[in-house]
Amino acid sequence: MRFDTRLIHSGQPADPLTGAVNTPIYLSSTFKQSAPNRNRGYVYSRTANPTRSVLEAALASLESGRAGLAFSSGLGALVTLLEAFPSGSRIVAMDDLYGGTWRLFEHHRKQFGLRVDYVDMRDLAATADALRPSADLVYVESPTNPLLKLVDLKAVGRLAHAAGAAVAVDNTFATPALQRPIESGADIVLHSTTKYLGGHSDILGGALVLKEKRPATEFAWLQNAVGAIPSPFDCFLVLRGLHTLGVRMRAHEAGARAVAEVLARDGRVLRVLYPGLASHPQHALARRQMSGYGGIVSVELSGGIRAARRFLKRLRVFTLAESLGGVESLVDHPATMTHASVPRAEREAHGVTDGLLRLSCGIEDPADLADDVRSALGGL
Ligand SMILES: *Cc1c(COP(=O)(O)O)cnc(C)c1O
Repeated sequence: MRFDTRLIHSGQPADPLTGAVNTPIYLSSTFKQSAPNRNRGYVYSRTANPTRSVLEAALASLESGRAGLAFSSGLGALVTLLEAFPSGSRIVAMDDLYGGTWRLFEHHRKQFGLRVDYVDMRDLAATADALRPSADLVYVESPTNPLLKLVDLKAVGRLAHAAGAAVAVDNTFATPALQRPIESGADIVLHSTTKYLGGHSDILGGALVLKEKRPATEFAWLQNAVGAIPSPFDCFLVLRGLHTLGVRMRAHEAGARAVAEVLARDGRVLRVLYPGLASHPQHALARRQMSGYGGIVSVELSGGIRAARRFLKRLRVFTLAESLGGVESLVDHPATMTHASVPRAEREAHGVTDGLLRLSCGIEDPADLADDVRSALGGL
């Protein structure tokens, strides 16, 4: 079956008990046993819950993996992933990452003996160097947050595997509708389901999808042992979000394209970052690796923080708020919001300047999004 059909049906049979077409929300922390340790596959909801099981099967199928695991947030998924890498392990990570991922690496796990080195994985020679003498995990985002850099997943996957490292890809920005890292050689896919998969800015959630069964069993063990699991109600909402992911991603992209084109033509703009623009330095890779360009556009305004403040004040449709991937358009000022935990020098060296804004284009009429941005630019 094709992807849009699988969004609605994969791993989601009618409820075996009642025939309910939509997966019921099983609000029970525990399950009756017919005799000690005799049960129907469910014992305690941290270990497994029927609503969560359906979501996990759906996610595994959509990401072309063997198993899916749902978590309380994207960072809940990451914390659990990192539990498989004890003190002394070495991670080689992309140099542009979600701020909370960086914070967890730098300010938490490094104190407990995890080694993390960053490299711009657009440079394959530098990546091969960074993998010497050895690495346990290569951690990738593509497109990255907020600079929309792309990583060649097949090429980096080959280098990582040659060095004996596993590959994890945070696929939050692209979603499986546009990019399926396991099909390009990744071993683990991570999601913040808070974003596009949930799609309505009303829950927090995360997920891991595993390519192979054996690590999947280990991660299921960790999921239960660590306990960063989502509620059945939130699992239901992510499942409901998945059903419309295909149509939503096409609508997000229409909005993003309209906005990117307005920005690209304006003299007050230093640079527009959108993989769908022919001017994006990795547009060719985006065409090859993704089946669409997504809904996030980053823009650097000339005039730094003052211009950014003025622009934000004049926006009417875009709401100033953290997060992304919902039906409503949001705008973020990474330097003071999502990436404030990254020191200024480091931030600016990587291009997260005071004039940078990240626009998450919702599914409103693209013409209204374009008008909103045009009118905000008019005030600069
Ligand atoms: C939001 C986000 C996360 C963290 O997810 P939470 O659900 O907020 O914990 C991780 N990676 C990316 C790319 C994100 O956008």
